[in-house]
Amino acid sequence: MADRSTIFALSSGRPPAAIAVVRISGPRAGLALEKLTGRVPPARQATLVRVREPTSEEVIDEALALWFPAPASETGEDVAELQLHGGHAVIAGVLNALSAIEGCRMAEPGEFTRRAFENGKLDLAATRGNGELGDLTAIEGLADLIAAETVAQRRQAFRQLKGLIGDRAEAWRQGLIDALAFVEAGIDFSDEADVPADLIAPAAQIARRLRDEIAAVLADSRRGERLREGLVVAIAGPPNAAKSTLFNRLARREAAIVSPFAGTTRDVIEVHLDLDGYPVTILDTAGIRDSAEPVEQEGVRRARARAAQADLVLWVTDVSASGTEAAELSVLKSASPRWLVQNKIDLLPGDGNKRSSAAQLKLKKINEYQFTFLVSAQGGQGLDALYGALTEFAKENFAAGEAALVTRARHRELLAETVAALDRALAEGASAYPREELVAEELRHATTSLGRLTGRVDVEDVLDKIFRDFCIGK
Ligand code: GDP
Repeated sequence: MADRSTIFALSSGRPPAAIAVVRISGPRAGLALEKLTGRVPPARQATLVRVREPTSEEVIDEALALWFPAPASETGEDVAELQLHGGHAVIAGVLNALSAIEGCRMAEPGEFTRRAFENGKLDLAATRGNGELGDLTAIEGLADLIAAETVAQRRQAFRQLKGLIGDRAEAWRQGLIDALAFVEAGIDFSDEADVPADLIAPAAQIARRLRDEIAAVLADSRRGERLREGLVVAIAGPPNAAKSTLFNRLARREAAIVSPFAGTTRDVIEVHLDLDGYPVTILDTAGIRDSAEPVEQEGVRRARARAAQADLVLWVTDVSASGTEAAELSVLKSASPRWLVQNKIDLLPGDGNKRSSAAQLKLKKINEYQFTFLVSAQGGQGLDALYGALTEFAKENFAAGEAALVTRARHRELLAETVAALDRALAEGASAYPREELVAEELRHATTSLGRLTGRVDVEDVLDKIFRDFCIGK
């Protein structure tokens, strides 16, 4: 049964800030507003109020109050919103006052969204007007929209929020239900000669068409997932090649995204770049060091694994040194493309662009690089060219073709399961004596997988996992 408690939370970002938004949702939202501000303002009108501590009646703040009676609200419940001054003490005062009201409690991460979903507010079908169930992929789209750091990520998240994959999956599922109806009709009439064979043929035709369509969607080189996660570029190379200096240089660029959220500073060895709207994460493997501390060890393990799976490796060497290039190759056993970045060109004699004989030798020895760059991380020479090439690399990876539908491993797994079930159904249907029960069973598997994708089937299993990634107050 749905939880009927009234929930509240700070929905805006970390204080101190100019404004803080506290949201209250549930049957006691109106009462809470009355206790704190003395009244419930007219619906959907910003109203200036004094917020008081209910027992002492001390004024905490002057604020704007908004009142959205159910069901025309974000969550579908009564919702009150206070726009306060965004200081720690103001927020704490209001949250404490709210928790003292019976039946009111702090919201859990994503709980507002969860209620919205449960009340049909995140329901794409409802916006189309046929009152059907909600779409899980829309919630994932919403989570991605909040997490989006670049324009391309934002666009992809918004498309998903608006049902790009959810609608397609639902259309496929409906098609398979039609196919299943043919086969089931065959089973029902199986006393009559020849009917099953006749009915398997049209079912197989639908299944074949949908199977091919889904398989084509899956053959997208994981473009959607990679856009969601960002391309990973690992900086690696022998010690003292000035990898960290190069990394810091890139991190200080305008495009570096300095996330204001807590928790992202844990990985000091990565920086997120916004290259013409495309997300690129640069990893400094020089920061991957052995540590005895368990939490850090885990961080190091993950960083290493990510570096090994990098989409691109920048192998950085000191152009004036020789014979050290194999040193850290073990860190990166990946098959990803590699660019050679010869660093410290200021140490070269002459104009610095001529390669020393030592550097020439290295180039011959290591011939697995796509491009070579000559830079000075400290002086800045050559960095614009490297940066421009990284931007091109990102564009090439993301800009190909139409928008990707699949943005998560969850989607991919379920669509792959659908294709596999359809393959089995088609194989059975094509056999000399097709057993229609088996065909029907596989078609049912396929519809179940698609139903899981949009949350029509087993939605509870997935909801908890999805909302765990949401912030409190959303
Ligand atoms: P890492 O071990 O590869 O991360 O190397 P660091 O970034 O710590 O740099 C190693 C040394 O090279 C430091 O002493 C830097 O000051 C120096 N260094 C960094 N960039 C340059 C450069 O462009 N030219 C020269 N000559 N030295 C540099």
